[in-house]
Amino acid sequence: MDYLSTLNEPQYEGVVNTEGPAMIIAGAGSGKTRVLTYRIAYLIKEKGVDPFNILALTFTNKAAREMRERIERVAGVNARNLWMGTFHSVFARILRAEADRLGYPSNFTIYDTDDSKSLIRSIVKEFGLDDKVYKPNVVLNRISGAKNRLVEWKEYLNNPLYAADDAAAQKPEMGRIYKTYCQRCFKADAMDFDDLLLNTNILFRDHIDVLNKYQHRFKYVLVDEFQDTNVSQYLITKKLSAVSQNIAVVGDDAQSIYAFRGANIENILNFEKDFPDLKVIKLEQNYRSTKNIVEAANSLIARNKGQLKKSVWTANGEGNRIELIKSVSDNEEGRFVASAIFEQKTQNGYENKDFAVLYRTNSQSRAIEEALRKSGIPYKIYGGLSFYQRKEIKDLMAYLRFAINTNDEQSFRRIINLPKRGIGATSVEKMVVAAFEHDIPLWEVLTNIDSFLPGRVANAVRDFVTLVKSFQIYVSSKDAYEAANHIAKTSGLLKELYDDKTVEGLNRYENVQELLNAMKEFVETPEVEDKSLAAFLQEVALLTDQDNDDPTDNDFVSLMTIHASKGLEFKNVFVVGLEEDLFPSQMMLSSRADLEEERRLFYVAITRAQENLYFSYALSRYRFGRLINSEPSRFIEEVDPNYIFVNTRYGSREPKLGRSEQPPGFSSSFARNLMATKKPQAKKPLQYHKPSADFRPSDTSNLAEGMKVEHPKFGFGKVSKVDTEGANKKAKVIFEDFGEKTLLLTFAKLRIV
Ligand code: ATP
Ligand code: MG
Repeated sequence: MDYLSTLNEPQYEGVVNTEGPAMIIAGAGSGKTRVLTYRIAYLIKEKGVDPFNILALTFTNKAAREMRERIERVAGVNARNLWMGTFHSVFARILRAEADRLGYPSNFTIYDTDDSKSLIRSIVKEFGLDDKVYKPNVVLNRISGAKNRLVEWKEYLNNPLYAADDAAAQKPEMGRIYKTYCQRCFKADAMDFDDLLLNTNILFRDHIDVLNKYQHRFKYVLVDEFQDTNVSQYLITKKLSAVSQNIAVVGDDAQSIYAFRGANIENILNFEKDFPDLKVIKLEQNYRSTKNIVEAANSLIARNKGQLKKSVWTANGEGNRIELIKSVSDNEEGRFVASAIFEQKTQNGYENKDFAVLYRTNSQSRAIEEALRKSGIPYKIYGGLSFYQRKEIKDLMAYLRFAINTNDEQSFRRIINLPKRGIGATSVEKMVVAAFEHDIPLWEVLTNIDSFLPGRVANAVRDFVTLVKSFQIYVSSKDAYEAANHIAKTSGLLKELYDDKTVEGLNRYENVQELLNAMKEFVETPEVEDKSLAAFLQEVALLTDQDNDDPTDNDFVSLMTIHASKGLEFKNVFVVGLEEDLFPSQMMLSSRADLEEERRLFYVAITRAQENLYFSYALSRYRFGRLINSEPSRFIEEVDPNYIFVNTRYGSREPKLGRSEQPPGFSSSFARNLMATKKPQAKKPLQYHKPSADFRPSDTSNLAEGMKVEHPKFGFGKVSKVDTEGANKKAKVIFEDFGEKTLLLTFAKLRIV
């Protein structure tokens, strides 16, 4: 019973009241995750529940791993059989077991975002549509939105509301693309990420016996980060716990940061309706952070209107005020962060792992990385272009995936002419289309290629088929490592990389070796029961941004986006790039709801810090390939200035301000003046334009010089130049109040007036 004595009273209630529905909506750092962890430990240890009957859904696989270790440590129980992981990983596992119910084989492929986009690209091309109008990521977002609201393509096509919406967005063919996209995925025996949830819902809806089975298996369901579940996820958990009613969810509405991906805060409100016996528990004491940090966070989030009322306090010490660091450029910002880390380490004995640098977008990591590297401070980036997104890795993975699922269209496209076999794009298209038109599996086209393609190409395809068949024998008889090693060698991939003696070529070769090493490690891990290639691929397909960490060496500074930092804590946290248009992001300024989501994101960032917190902004930064002047983020001023002090120690190139520390209570306008004096060009009115009531972004694909436009923030202006070169279409606009701005048309919300 020892571990229970560390809990405060409401936490204890949350742990020991295991029967019936329970919900904890409480502030950051108040121990929500701890309550979930201990509740599971309690169920197993004190209530004798079989871990097999417990389902715990976490935000990342890493969080699940940590929870499992924690449970074993605090309660000394074996938590190995717990069903624990992300929604995607847990339900992928269930879908594999029940795949035949949905007409899928159990070895279905999971398409990642790249696969999905390239499938959309080919469909748009086949339909003869303009890929500037039907941009793959825009189309994918719309499909994803529909799936997460459980709108299947049939309903989408039949419902005039969607057609009207698509017409308004100048994408009248959306429904047809959605339909074909689904059919092509199905044909390829593939599911995309959203399908994992949608299909689970369909499975439980159409197969009551299957639902029953899992309702009885999962006698206890627990969900962390409940505020970020979408409708599809919510329905799954609701159905699973409909019989037992033993569902416990924890979350914080103030940390809801995935609305843009369909997360639905209404779930919190619906939960009370769906489970009338609900026991609601409040946690108010924060154990993570100093008083300064807790109060600073409270002062910020109070500005959001759409918020459940709650108070958060802490018994922790007051701590230091938040340090505000200003730099002239993003590179200088990197150097300041590096020197602050160095100083903290040498003066206060912190280790590298006590630091995190958080930013709004992945591309901001470059300057920070450079500075850390120069200072010899080890760091690790979470997210971004991860190992598994590199071309050479994707190439080998495509071979592996295809050996397991020979209908996987995206993998097929990647490898059919790699290394070169003289099979051109037109032939590839013919094969894919043939499978679709004759309604037969792709593999059947390949194995009967003579009926579809003429002589020389057919020969090449036949050789390819023989090769793949030989791979299949390996895959079915050897473990993941041996099979992959064989495939890498026999496919010719390794050789091609080996023959490329450039530095990049060498790098790519090493990366492939690294992948093979990872597989070796996988098959040699005693806990791994299923050592097959399929099991390895499944694991990799579901890695999330935060999961790529290396447990062997863990003393490094963490660099990640704020989104990826959810649920984590660090002794020292730097929030960098606090500049208007970057954070809050320019894309999120069009409505109060969007701005509030950005503010919640800032709240998440602040509340990751345990001891010391830094805010940093730069007056200029390279973005989209050019130097852009920037203004400090409005968010800096939204934090009560009592908790901030302006650090000028690092401002080497700037005139000193006379004092390095502000007395408590310096006013917000003082802070603003301070910023203004340091940057004369920031004299622009901080009052931005208020968009007209009927403001609605126009389609800018035909934007031309001389047109008059309205921007939600900069107001009215005239287009002076449209630059269509390169992938990013840009426009120069001279605004009446804000002068000339260069806008990236993918992101800019413009109304043509
Ligand atoms: P977030 O909203 O960021 O996910 P959370 O509410 O899940 O936060 P936890 O991560 O569970 O909070 O807890 C925050 C920190 O406080 C952790 O380090 C945890 O171990 C510690 N903590 C929680 N409850 C107690 C307690 N009763 N006594 C001591 N430490 C505690
Ligand atoms: Mg948590």
